[in-house]
Amino acid sequence: MKSNIIIIGAGAAGLMAARELGKAGKKVIILEARDRIGGRIFPLDEKEFGYPAQGGAEFAHGEAHITKALAKEAGMTLILTQGDMWNSRDGEVTVNSEPIPNQDELHKKLRELKSDLPIAEFLEKYFSEEKYARLRNSIIRMVEGYDAGDVNRISTFTLREEWLGGGEWLQYRIKEGYGAMLKFLERECRKNGVEIQLNAIVKEVEAKDDIIVVRTADGDIFEAEKVVVTVPVPVISGINFIPAIPEKMEAASKIGFGNVIKLLIRFKNRWWVNALGKDFSEMDFIFSGEEVRTWWTQYPDLVPVLTGWIPGPRAEKYKNSSDKDILELALDSLSNVFKVDREFVRKEIVASKIVNWPADPYAKGAYSYSTTESEEGYEELRKPAGNKIFFAGEALYAGKDTATVEGALASGLETARKILKHD
Ligand SMILES: Cc1cc2nc3c(=O)[nH]c(=O)nc-3n(C[C@H](O)[C@H](O)[C@H](O)COP(=O)(O)OP(=O)(O)OC[C@H]3O[C@@H](n4cnc5c(N)ncnc54)[C@H](O)[C@@H]3O)c2cc1C
Repeated sequence: MKSNIIIIGAGAAGLMAARELGKAGKKVIILEARDRIGGRIFPLDEKEFGYPAQGGAEFAHGEAHITKALAKEAGMTLILTQGDMWNSRDGEVTVNSEPIPNQDELHKKLRELKSDLPIAEFLEKYFSEEKYARLRNSIIRMVEGYDAGDVNRISTFTLREEWLGGGEWLQYRIKEGYGAMLKFLERECRKNGVEIQLNAIVKEVEAKDDIIVVRTADGDIFEAEKVVVTVPVPVISGINFIPAIPEKMEAASKIGFGNVIKLLIRFKNRWWVNALGKDFSEMDFIFSGEEVRTWWTQYPDLVPVLTGWIPGPRAEKYKNSSDKDILELALDSLSNVFKVDREFVRKEIVASKIVNWPADPYAKGAYSYSTTESEEGYEELRKPAGNKIFFAGEALYAGKDTATVEGALASGLETARKILKHD
């Protein structure tokens, strides 16, 4: 089958690129390995959870111009998350009270930093004394929890930009869920003549003189003038490129990729609301040192669901664990944090879903982060191979929204425009 452009991957980046190229009159085909569109946007069964639950991306962070514009175009509603933030530390549970200890000193050292190094080395170099133990702990929790990154690889320059670079820290949810937003994009693609083939696992991309040949695991063959590869960075090396493109493979290995196991549990009741003699009725997030680090509600929606988050190296540790064992970890975490009997919590469960992203062969993790070598990697991957094979996706957006849906949408759009400009 022949087309102008083949896009590998029907996630946010692939669909956004396809819509733009389709609108410009290009014959586009998307080859998607899974039996669904969306990639790391993964809507779960709404009937089971009582709202449009998401097994992957859930929040829109900060300005997110493209996401907000797309939500508006699709007639969707953004809801600001604004409940209470709780912390459970050493058996003590407090609300909205966790400024980073020694924050001024930390900011000063960050501002003075002249050359980049991993955050673990930065802490070792400037904050190794015992009196900074809480600071170190806070930073490690934040980096592992939010960026899902490995503290021994993640770039301090990037974290400095994230923490001190200004910009909006507000966080929103799309009421209808990200899944509905991508369904809208899918309809838009089809309206513009884009063909989407599911269950098409791309195994090989061969660049011939005047054509690119793409082969799938089922032996199907597709041909196009150009190819856009939007698979997650750790998945790129699973595709056989002919001729080989070692510079792109090396570039991909320089970009960090964090892990997350996300758990959703629906209960009979919001049993945690009056736990510990406190008022958790407006709880948004609760952070702890448990293996399931973070839990959050859908507040202001009062649906009796808690979402758990096993981030960073911990997710790697449980990558091969069964869902049953991960659910046991969840019960440990909830009973320790809220001081309730784990068997009571178990009996409250109505439905649960464990989404083990590091074990997913088409994601191999959750989202990218910058290492001290990433800049070279980004630069190399943003350049097309032979002006025919383009790379796109959340990791490759040149702005500050890498790792997010916004970054993926922006990268897809940017890549499509690059192709159209040089056509
Ligand atoms: C648990 C979790 C929570 C997150 N939370 C948020 C959040 O709250 N807010 C936010 O903005 N972002 C969040 N993210 C990140 C966000 O989901 C991603 O940045 C974004 O969805 C990536 O889109 P993409 O198109 O770049 O990649 P993907 O969505 O991964 O799309 C790539 C596609 O390529 C397909 N593919 C892979 N290999 C092949 C192959 N060989 N052949 C054909 N197809 C292939 C995949 O199946 C996939 O559909 C989260 C991610 C995870 C995992």
